[in-house]
Amino acid sequence: GTPLLEVKNLETAFDIDGTFYNAVDNVSFSVKPRQIVGVVGESGCGKSVMSLSIMQLLPKGIGKIKSGEIVFDGIHIEKMDENQVNKIRGKDISMIFQEPMTSLNPVFTIGSQIQEVLLNHQKISKNDARQKAIALLKSVGISRPEKIVDEYPHQLSGGMRQRVMIAIAIACQPKLLIADEPTTALDVTVQAQILELLKEIQEVNDMSIILITHDLGVVAEMCDEVIVMYAGRIVEQTDVETLFYNPKHPYTTLLLGAIPKMEDEADRLSSIQGIVPSITNMKKTGCRFANRCPMAMPECQTVTPILADNGDGHKVACLLFETSRPKEGAISQ
Ligand code: SF4
Ligand code: MG
Repeated sequence: GTPLLEVKNLETAFDIDGTFYNAVDNVSFSVKPRQIVGVVGESGCGKSVMSLSIMQLLPKGIGKIKSGEIVFDGIHIEKMDENQVNKIRGKDISMIFQEPMTSLNPVFTIGSQIQEVLLNHQKISKNDARQKAIALLKSVGISRPEKIVDEYPHQLSGGMRQRVMIAIAIACQPKLLIADEPTTALDVTVQAQILELLKEIQEVNDMSIILITHDLGVVAEMCDEVIVMYAGRIVEQTDVETLFYNPKHPYTTLLLGAIPKMEDEADRLSSIQGIVPSITNMKKTGCRFANRCPMAMPECQTVTPILADNGDGHKVACLLFETSRPKEGAISQ
């Protein structure tokens, strides 16, 4: 069927000392209705920048979409102005973040923060909005919602605050939810509960989710389709079973090898040699993973791999898997 979201050749750049550098480089993918698409990779691979681009939430004057298209439900988001985006943000597309980044306001009650998004996007009375807020709190598994609705964020646990954020995000029944590391700051038991809740909501609301995570365990649990990003580019994309049973890209293989070792991201990263290049330091040509890749060949330094499949929908950007290559002039990266 038609995709709900289509991102085409997206380039997002950041101003660093007067020069714009691409943090997201020629990224294309789509999300179908009701699909959960995972985006994985280490910190600094462009996952969050990609999602902030979709939401038009890039830091003003610093980050900008240089080129490409973001088509949501048939409309071009990348061409919208602030007013137009405000109408769909929080209504048709919502976003939740890792707990430390969440935007719950400490001086307002939980109820007033849920009501705000309802009153912004719907013709609804204050009293109805309050009743709806209570119902939403209940739907995200908060017990005694009539009491919690009048409490302040600091009175709740981290897990409950994330449930409140989810309630706000789904208040207007968006078609797409972007969840950026939604459980990273939570302890393991609460993580599992929040993921369970997201899955349940996805089914009940017929929603699509883009789930950004560094945790392949979360991907296995949740996702239909997976995008692996490295240094601003997509390096592999396929369905979740294929990714786990038949990974192709050496980076994916290393990420998978790092799974069972530990819970902590910092420790995991150390199990893959080297670090993700900073955006001022990304190679224009050649494979950006070459300096860390155990399979690297001399040509990997100079020839840019092209993300492609051989007809089976399993896309990979690695010279080891390239069977044919368009003429020199056709290589755009
Ligand atoms: Fe490794 Fe070369 Fe493939 Fe890059 S293109 S992942 S360096 S083998
Ligand atoms: Mg991030």
